[in-house]
Amino acid sequence: MEGSEREEGARRLTRLVAPLRVSPGRTVHLGRDFDPGYKDEFLSKADAEGVLQTGVELLSEYQMRLAAQNTYGLLVVLQAMDAGGKDGTIRHVMSGVNPQGVRVSSFKVPSNEELDHDYLWRYAQRLPARGEIGIFNRSHYEEVLVVRVHPDVLGQQRLPDEAKTDIWSRRFREINDWERYLVDNGIRIVKLFLNVSKEEQRKRFLKRIERPDKNWKFSAADVRERAYWDDYTHAFSEMLSHTSTDWAPWLVIPADRKWFARIAAAAAIVSALVEIDPRYPEVDAHTLEELERAKAELEAEAPGADSRER
Ligand code: ATP
Ligand code: MG
Repeated sequence: MEGSEREEGARRLTRLVAPLRVSPGRTVHLGRDFDPGYKDEFLSKADAEGVLQTGVELLSEYQMRLAAQNTYGLLVVLQAMDAGGKDGTIRHVMSGVNPQGVRVSSFKVPSNEELDHDYLWRYAQRLPARGEIGIFNRSHYEEVLVVRVHPDVLGQQRLPDEAKTDIWSRRFREINDWERYLVDNGIRIVKLFLNVSKEEQRKRFLKRIERPDKNWKFSAADVRERAYWDDYTHAFSEMLSHTSTDWAPWLVIPADRKWFARIAAAAAIVSALVEIDPRYPEVDAHTLEELERAKAELEAEAPGADSRER
């Protein structure tokens, strides 16, 4: 991509992001405040493929610069209700990025070993290194979502009694502090909540049942979990109200239209990378001299015997 084309593409994309941001300190009522069917008025489905492609190309370029600079890392946190589109978003948005520079971690029900540690331990193991993009498919936020909706899950965490008082406000504080520490140390964080409506979830579950190629995605447990929709809505609202910070704000991605969700997610990640503005390291004078010397040596060499043999 040409420099000017890149800048224009990045500008178009980053404009999409501001309206999705949860202002720090704002009290969120999810069902009321955010429309899962929203899309930017200047974008139509017909443009979708081209815009997403621009996003994917920008991501690929920025990822190379991030890796070369090797100073900042980027953590992308993805949270959603079941069938919210986390997997598809990862697949489409990261499709152009060098697999060496990205690490996707999916967090499931914790193992016994994980339960033997403090609750942030397993997430800390999977953080991106400098130069890397790390994607959390579910994340430490499950600790204030599924764990909050199902008190028996909390019971399995073997917490001392004193850790149980005001547990949710404590966890919000601990998570905010942890993220602050990471950002201060060069690990930037993009937090995406894919906001799907209950009706759209119903349609997606039905599709998983009706289409044989989607059957593998269907789990009866997901339908059981749907019965807790209102509890999850409350837990997500609380999470958004208490953990959208200046250093790591939440973006609520309208997710009923998959094509828009993917563009918005790409836009959010591109924006974070534009802000980091990673640069290829400049070569110092000494190394430049060495390069010139190596070039002269290579050019002076006669074409090798093996090239004549062919
Ligand atoms: P898929 O799209 O493949 O269904 P998924 O992320 O839903 O992806 P599953 O294996 O279906 O993966 O579900 C993982 C389950 O693990 C979820 O129900 C989630 O709530 C649960 N989980 C994640 N983190 C925790 C945690 N810290 N404590 C308890 N349960 C957790
Ligand atoms: Mg699942």
